[in-house]
Amino acid sequence: MLLWLLVPLFCLCSLSSLVAYGLAEHFANDSYDKLLVRSAESIVGRIGRNESGVVVADLPLAAQAILRHETKDGLKDQFYYQIADSYGHRLTGDAVLPLPLNTSDKGPRFRYAEIAGQKVRMYRVYVQISPSPDEIWVQVAETLNCRQQLLKQIFISIVAPQVVLVILASLSVWVGVKHGVAPLERLGKLLNARRKVDLSPVDIGKTPSELVPVTNALNQLFLNATNHIQLQRQFIGNAAHQLRTPITALKTNSEYALRIASSGGATLSEVLEQTSEAATRLAHMTERLLSLARTEEESVRILEKMDISEAVNDAAALVVSEALRRNICMEFEIPESPVYVNGDRGDLVELLANLFDNAIKYTSEKGAIWVKLQETTDAVIINIEDNGPGIPDPEKQSIFERFYRIPGTTEPGCGLGLSIVSRIASNNNATVKVIDRPGGGACFCITFPRLNEALGETVTDKSSELFIASGEPHEPQHCRQQWSS
Ligand code: ADP
Repeated sequence: MLLWLLVPLFCLCSLSSLVAYGLAEHFANDSYDKLLVRSAESIVGRIGRNESGVVVADLPLAAQAILRHETKDGLKDQFYYQIADSYGHRLTGDAVLPLPLNTSDKGPRFRYAEIAGQKVRMYRVYVQISPSPDEIWVQVAETLNCRQQLLKQIFISIVAPQVVLVILASLSVWVGVKHGVAPLERLGKLLNARRKVDLSPVDIGKTPSELVPVTNALNQLFLNATNHIQLQRQFIGNAAHQLRTPITALKTNSEYALRIASSGGATLSEVLEQTSEAATRLAHMTERLLSLARTEEESVRILEKMDISEAVNDAAALVVSEALRRNICMEFEIPESPVYVNGDRGDLVELLANLFDNAIKYTSEKGAIWVKLQETTDAVIINIEDNGPGIPDPEKQSIFERFYRIPGTTEPGCGLGLSIVSRIASNNNATVKVIDRPGGGACFCITFPRLNEALGETVTDKSSELFIASGEPHEPQHCRQQWSS
């Protein structure tokens, strides 16, 4: 911050010094040039002709002394003069002075020249002497000691206060910045001094007003992190509880099986069956837990344009054997042409497979499941209906919570399937809701924003919140595919 403030300040100061030097040079030259012009005029006033008619200048030593400048501290300038004819040949005056240049130009001119290694300022004027028609050049010159002294004085008088001002300004900027960032340093020290995971909010009352937005943002971050940690803790607690039951069953049964085997008992197959059941539950639970952990990862997902009907087919292929085993008819109504959405294919197959799996699991044998994929002007909708027991209204929200199962549910499961479904839907910009099927049973609706074909973008950016609603789904009309026993 100091660099950003001080570097431009010093650049401005240097620029203003350059301008000041130009101005000082202009004023010093201007005043001494006027004196030089006056000297030339006094010489012109003293020009005349002698008895033989030759042009002479009556310039006694006393007069020359007047023309020579001297400063208060004794600094002197050398003064020179010269008279030349109209062709530029010297008539009288100092021979060391260079002859007039470019005599065709008759105007008065200033220029710099060098005499005995010293720089001089010269002025020339073209005059007529009486009786005419004679015309002559009068040239005067002086060394630059006094005007350089004046230039130095003017320059110092302009720049010195500026330098003092810049030094004072820099000091006040430094003090101001130090004072301004002190609360930040204090905040840093305060946070550093905290114990490893202390996410308590920072006290805004003691924060200066400039830092309030930062402290607010920090507090919000701490709050989010605290909530996240609490959710994780709850999740780990639930997971541990859920895993403990099948693991205990496995342990008890294997010990029991061992005892029966050593005593040659006949109920071994029954115990082994229970053991295998517990192992299946354990495997299912582990798979669901891993799946939930994967879908809850906060990393950015790359959603690609994909044909959702292919995901429906893939998911159906995963569950069809179970449907056949339970004698359940699955009817699919899917448009012939591809239906595109933006999504992650693997995730969406998992979402659909979970919903198919539930529909098969909770529908009684010889039941039916209808899957309908349709496109509206701004959405792509998949309805999965079954004629099972349905979901009572008060439970419609809770079933999407982790580890929640409707009380009295006897089918195997751990209450994680629908939370995975809702998470995947949210990750893929889709919404999921459950409504009652008019003929009895449940209808799960997944809604994707429709893709704008021209731009490859979604038509509407719907939020991925969870909707629970009751509505009137229509009975599926046609079947493109049907699996049943
Ligand atoms: P799980 O099936 O492993 O218990 P889910 O999260 O998939 O876990 O489902 C939560 C609860 O919602 C289930 O326990 C069940 O009671 C109920 N449920 C889910 N799908 C259906 C359905 N198609 N028909 C009736 N009840 C269902």
